[in-house]
Amino acid sequence: MNLQDFIRSIPDFPKKGIIFKDITTLLKDPEAFNTAADMLYNFAKNLGVQKVAGIESRGFVFGSLLAQRLKAGFVPIRKPKKLPAQVYSASYTLEYGEDTLEMHQDAILKGEKVLLHDDLLATGGTAQAACSLIEKAGGKIVQVSFLIELAFLNGREKLKGYDVVSVMRYE
Ligand code: AMP
Repeated sequence: MNLQDFIRSIPDFPKKGIIFKDITTLLKDPEAFNTAADMLYNFAKNLGVQKVAGIESRGFVFGSLLAQRLKAGFVPIRKPKKLPAQVYSASYTLEYGEDTLEMHQDAILKGEKVLLHDDLLATGGTAQAACSLIEKAGGKIVQVSFLIELAFLNGREKLKGYDVVSVMRYE
């Protein structure tokens, strides 16, 4: 099964020049969904992961699945003003402007082994900001995993030093 066959590419969404990788076409197929989850699980199964952190919102889908399979807890990393208790915040630059991510301060304990998951790695700014939140809480990042990696955008450069893995790569 070639999982890339289940990813739909939408040109000029959400704005001109972006080719949006739509994962809903993979999620709706039970076999493709399960195959992708198995691959992500196999990347991480021997790392002793204690918490899986998923980035809002598409990172929640496989992030929570992975947490269950790894017998780890799940931690949501969210857009600003969504989390109700005390948060750590990290801002990062986008092509135009800035964005912020937040995580509850008590979500991760000092020294816990954390896997960060998101659906897609593009320039790496989002994942880098999420890594800084996990480390602010004292977590040890043992893997950063993605369903899709847009390799031509060199997002890995921003994640140097981490074990970065992806199910599908677009060169
Ligand atoms: P970046 O910070 O540039 O690595 O962007 C990654 C974040 O933006 C992820 O949370 C993705 O869901 C989203 N994203 C960026 N580019 C795309 C794309 N071409 N298709 C789908 N999602 C994208």
